Amino acid sequence: MKKTTVLRVQMGHNCLICETRKTQGYRLLHSFICHTCEQKIVQSEAGTEDYSLYVQKMRKMIAGN
Ligand SMILES: [Zn+2]
Repeated sequence: MKKTTVLRVQMGHNCLICETRKTQGYRLLHSFICHTCEQKIVQSEAGTEDYSLYVQKMRKMIAGN
């Protein structure tokens, strides 16, 4: 008797910043940043609230590994 194993394939990854499952983006170390957030990071200026939040999250991610 053959047993069929069903593997659940997860499409995409949870974004580190917005915590939403996205398929487009890139992997950074063991984490994932979606395309939208990547654009936001690139466009946010140093010193702004958004920027500090991203930096904080990325630091946490690096430290967490
Ligand atoms: Zn995101």
